[in-house]
Amino acid sequence: MRITALAGGVGGARFLRGLRDHLDTRDDLADTSLTVIGNTGDDITLFGLRVCPDLDTLVYTLGDGVHEGQGWGRADESHRVQGELAAYGAQPQWFALGDLDFGTHIIRSQWLGLGLKLSDVTERLAQRWGLPDRGVTVLPMTDDPVETHVVIEDAEGQRAVHFQEWWVRMQAAVPAQRFIAVGMDQATAAPGVLDAIRQADVILLPPSNPVVSIGIILGVPGVRDALRGSHAPVVGVSPIIGGMPVRGHADACLDAIGVESTAAGVASLYEDFLDGWLVSEDDERGVRLSRAQVRGRPLLMSDRGAAADLAGAALDLALELRNS
Ligand code: GDP
Ligand code: CA
Repeated sequence: MRITALAGGVGGARFLRGLRDHLDTRDDLADTSLTVIGNTGDDITLFGLRVCPDLDTLVYTLGDGVHEGQGWGRADESHRVQGELAAYGAQPQWFALGDLDFGTHIIRSQWLGLGLKLSDVTERLAQRWGLPDRGVTVLPMTDDPVETHVVIEDAEGQRAVHFQEWWVRMQAAVPAQRFIAVGMDQATAAPGVLDAIRQADVILLPPSNPVVSIGIILGVPGVRDALRGSHAPVVGVSPIIGGMPVRGHADACLDAIGVESTAAGVASLYEDFLDGWLVSEDDERGVRLSRAQVRGRPLLMSDRGAAADLAGAALDLALELRNS
C-alpha cells in the first residue's frame, strides 16, 4: 500500500514516526511505503547556509536522531559553533543551531552550490538516516526557493518579516496581518510530489499547522487539484484541541486568515478534499462537516506509543472510507 502525507515540522514528524511504528505492528500492511511531502516555506539562509527546519525535523525524527524534548534539532547536541559566532557578533542569535545540526546545513549548502536540487539533497540526507530502509521517502514540496513572510505592524511601521523572525524571535506576539509565500508564483511541485498524491491509496494530513505548514504546501501549483481529484481517501488530524493548539502559535496564524481556532475551523480549510477528520473526544459533538466523517479520538501525542495509536486511528478511518 502507498500512503502519502503532507507535513510541517514537529507535529507532522511525531505523527509520522507514530505511523511508521504502527505499520511495524501490522502484518497485513507489511509492504507499505510512506511518502512525506514536507513544507519548505520555513526555509531560511543563515550565515550563508541553507536551513530547512521542517524537512530536517522530519528526517531526524523518522531517523531516530531527533532531540526528543524539543521535538526538533539533534539529540546529544552542543552549541559551540553558535557560541563562536556570537563572539564575532554574528547575527542572528535568536535562531538556535546546534553543532551536529550545522553539519546538515553545511553539506546541504555545499550540494545545492554544486547544482543539486533540494529534492536530491533531501534524498541524500534521508539516506544517511536510513529512511529508504524503512520505506519512507521525504520530498520537499518544491525545489524552488519559497519563503513564508509575515506582514506585521509594530512601532517600526508596517513591514514583512521572514516567518522565522515572527515565529521564533517575536514568538508570534505581534499580530500577523497576512502571510505571503514569496516565490510561490514561480514555483512548481518537486519531482514526485503530484504523482505521490495521484497514486496514493491513502492520504493523511498529520496535525501540522494548517496555515504555515499544510496551507503553504496546498499553495504549490497542482497540489490542491491533485488532492481534489485523488481517488484515495484523505484523512486529517486536528492540531487544535478544545479551541487551543497543542503547541506553537497556530491560533495566531488562524486569526490572521480569519478562521476560528477550532477543529471545525481547521477542517473548513480542507473542505474541498477532506474525507475523514479526527478530533478530540470532547470536540466530537461540536463538529459537523458536510462532506467529511468526523471521529473523536485521544489526540495528544504524549509519547511515542500515543502517537502510534493516533496514527493507527487515522489509518483505520482511511481504510474504512476506502472500502465503503
Ligand atoms: P512545526 O512546523 O514544527 O510548527 O510543526 P507542524 O506544523 O508539523 O505542527 C504544529 C502543530 O502540531 C501545532 O498546530 C500543534 O497544535 C500540533 N500538535 C503538536 N503536538 C500535537 C499533539 O500531540 N496532538 C495534536 N493533535 N496536535 C499536535
Ligand atoms: Ca514549521
